[in-house]
Amino acid sequence: MAYGERGRRVPVVDLADRRALERYRPADAGVIEEARRLKEAALLDFGLTESAVASWLYAKCHHQIPTTAIDTAAVVASGDGSCLLLYNPDFFVGLGLDGVKFVLFHEARHLVHRHLFTDPELRADPVFELACEVSVNHVALVRLGRTRLPLLNGRPTGVDPREVHDAYVRDLTAHGLEPVPYEVFTETDMRVYGELKRMHRPPVPERRLCVHLREGGVPADQETVDAVTSSALLNSLLAARRGHAGAERELLDLMDRTEDGNARAARIWGSLGAGTLRGETTRTRTVHWWQRWLVDVLGSRLRDGERLVYPKKRGALLAALGQDPVLSRRGPVREKVLVVAYDTSGSMPDHVIQWLTRLVGRIDGVEAHWLSFDAVVMPFRPGERVYGGGGTSFQVVADYVEGRTEVGGRRFDVTPDAVVVLTDGYAPPVTPAEPDKWIWLITEGGSEWPETHTPAMDCHRVTTGSR
Ligand SMILES: [Zn+2]
Repeated sequence: MAYGERGRRVPVVDLADRRALERYRPADAGVIEEARRLKEAALLDFGLTESAVASWLYAKCHHQIPTTAIDTAAVVASGDGSCLLLYNPDFFVGLGLDGVKFVLFHEARHLVHRHLFTDPELRADPVFELACEVSVNHVALVRLGRTRLPLLNGRPTGVDPREVHDAYVRDLTAHGLEPVPYEVFTETDMRVYGELKRMHRPPVPERRLCVHLREGGVPADQETVDAVTSSALLNSLLAARRGHAGAERELLDLMDRTEDGNARAARIWGSLGAGTLRGETTRTRTVHWWQRWLVDVLGSRLRDGERLVYPKKRGALLAALGQDPVLSRRGPVREKVLVVAYDTSGSMPDHVIQWLTRLVGRIDGVEAHWLSFDAVVMPFRPGERVYGGGGTSFQVVADYVEGRTEVGGRRFDVTPDAVVVLTDGYAPPVTPAEPDKWIWLITEGGSEWPETHTPAMDCHRVTTGSR
């Protein structure tokens, strides 16, 4: 999925090959630095105010690579489950901050579209492609508070929704049909499509406008798109529920735009429990948000990246370039190690630890280690009696998990992939050796210090029911 209008061409290197991308004719170091700064500033603004969804999506693109191998910018979803943001440094510097924000928002929204609209007939229809461009740019103009498309070398770049509407009005009027005003035309994504289909001669999007407009132009593995996008939507939803007003408005608007005439989107929103944002509590089951969150976080922590994969889309792209599609070997599969540490000085409800036991039991290839702790660490097995009642120390957990102390004459000698701590949070903060592996579940009324600690750690409030 790539933005711009500087002509489409077959990618010069494998767009999922990070090293090849970085090696390919690197731009001037100063330009790269400036482009990176613009990208960071844009993402910061998204997170603060403009788009929680885009902010979360890019947070999940672990590799963001300046490269001249593409002309504009693109999000690549490769067959191994990872997402890459590629951007041409000259393109970004030419656009400036406002333009970079527009383009990054546009690309993020395309990814969301790929997740919500999968009907093969729709996707094959060039009018639907144009409708997507119109919808995405209309929303971008509104959300980013713009009156026009970004300029590149003094010229507006991209599909202008107002110009498309003007052409639609002319076409319908010429054929004695009644056009709808712009506000109605752009109401929902399917409405744009439906109105464009009423045209005698619907405009066909210019292929050069967007690399993503051509199947196979950029690797976009559907499974990866679905995983990354639903995770970003869930995180935005959680932010909205915690009082992020911008996230709430964005999600409500996105739901309203995409549910209409699109059963898949309605189902996705339903299973996310997004109806609660509209106050529709009766239609959705009781939702344990922290469980959702933990499944999502653990899912990405424990993602099985070490397997033999055939990257479908990337394979098709390589085949189109005349190369043999190959399987990517991801190394030997290793069992993931998860530590669950249970604060027994606190008031963690029994069903929480029971749920965790069942959850861990359901994750394939996970070796779980259970600990209870107060001022000392006490390993246990699910079902065994758990002791506690003393003061609380997180340091004893870190010391044990990091192999510095013994319990019962034994040292913990495996390296965990994730450490989940269930606690009320009331004990002196700690900084583990690998903070990004630690996940803190804080009981109601507890202290959420890990969220504001330096470095910040994943942290979520555990409630016993739906909030
Ligand atoms: Zn586009």
